[in-house]
Amino acid sequence: MSNSLLDLAYGRAAAFLRELPERHVGAQGTRDELVAALHTPLSDDGEDPAAVIDALSRGADRGLIACAGPRYFGFVIGGSLPVALAADWLTSAWDQNAGIYATSPAASVVEDIAREWLLDLFDLPRTASVGFVTGGQMANFTALAAARHGVLRNAGWNVEEDGLAGAPPVHLVVSAASHITIHFSMRLLGFGTRALIKVDADEQGRMRADSLRETLRTLDGPIIVCAQAGNVNSGAVDPLREIAEIAHERNAWLHVDGAFGLWGRATESKRALLDGCELADSWANDAHKWLNVPYDSGIVIVRDSASHRAAMTLSAEYLQQTTGVERDNFEWVPDFSRRARGFPIYAAIRALGRRGVESLIDASCDRARQFAEILGHDPRVAILNDVVLNQVLVRFNNSDDVTRNVIARVQQEGTCWLGGTTWQGNAAMRISVSNWSTTPEDVEKSCAAIMRCLDAVSQD
Ligand SMILES: *Cc1c(COP(=O)(O)O)cnc(C)c1O
Repeated sequence: MSNSLLDLAYGRAAAFLRELPERHVGAQGTRDELVAALHTPLSDDGEDPAAVIDALSRGADRGLIACAGPRYFGFVIGGSLPVALAADWLTSAWDQNAGIYATSPAASVVEDIAREWLLDLFDLPRTASVGFVTGGQMANFTALAAARHGVLRNAGWNVEEDGLAGAPPVHLVVSAASHITIHFSMRLLGFGTRALIKVDADEQGRMRADSLRETLRTLDGPIIVCAQAGNVNSGAVDPLREIAEIAHERNAWLHVDGAFGLWGRATESKRALLDGCELADSWANDAHKWLNVPYDSGIVIVRDSASHRAAMTLSAEYLQQTTGVERDNFEWVPDFSRRARGFPIYAAIRALGRRGVESLIDASCDRARQFAEILGHDPRVAILNDVVLNQVLVRFNNSDDVTRNVIARVQQEGTCWLGGTTWQGNAAMRISVSNWSTTPEDVEKSCAAIMRCLDAVSQD
């Protein structure tokens, strides 16, 4: 591999990162422009690699979103800490297959260490098992596969061997405000979505414990309950201690989708909000959201490691599986061969330390409150949620049209980017602060852009 090729790629990447804070945050090119810039007929003989990297970096540029930058507030999308990006570059260069110990002892050991640190940061049972998956969706899927194993094993059924046909029915209890990836996981697991029993959520999007109690009273047999730490719109956290007590009275498996909210466990200021989280049986989290490591990186944690392993593992003669202390990463995830995504997580946590993680989370929450304070100052603006984490819901002129038009204008204007949602039946702008590099000045600049857009929409 020629150094000049890698130098070229490095130069383009570094230039992108340098310009990132000042880029137009949204996409600039249309699909047609991007196709025109990138499409060539498939050639017979290929092209010079440097010319390809040059063409790719130039051709993609206007279709790149500055979501790694400081003023992207759409969805819940973290940036990349420089140290995590650097470790990710090494991960690509090393090209390890993180499937089994034998294919990368280093990846295995680093995942073991990252497991220990994560359980410490989240203050979850230190004996829990941890798998490194592609994202929150696969973390939910893996945790719920372990749950399916656990509750059916207790009912005398081996779902891995016998499948679901003829199995005792499992009651699937979710919050009315569950993330769609919970529903999707139920599909993948063969449960389907029709059978989901939805428990009411309150005005912040928290599962109502009293409704859960009522619901569980009527159910017999295996039960899985899905709670949430961090509603994707409001950031609200379900009353986890109460939910855990209610679920465990009925021997239910309690899963907590904490894709971003679980990071609240790593900070003194948010710990009370997530009180009781440690009582659950499984947890889903994203590292590519709030830990700010590059895609794709999710984390699944399961209290009963035997259920976790039983749901994911398989064996084959050729594998050279270890029987001792060495970790075979594939036993904890749906993938077999895969990227060594433990390296960036390890690097991020090691560089930040306990206090660094805490300030990353606290600073995002402070910036979210700053948004609410500045915007909420204007009588035309309503802040729709209690800003308990990093999410803010904003509505303008109490009007769906005005709110949607402001969002569209902000996206076009390019100072910042945020998206829309529907909250309690009304259109709302959603702001998510999840990036290590967002400063108070970025929030001021973004609020000014939002108010300029509101003025312009009001004059239309
Ligand atoms: C983002 C999110 C997910 C899905 O995570 P991906 O990494 O996008 O797969 C699931 N649940 C919640 C609450 C989320 O915020």
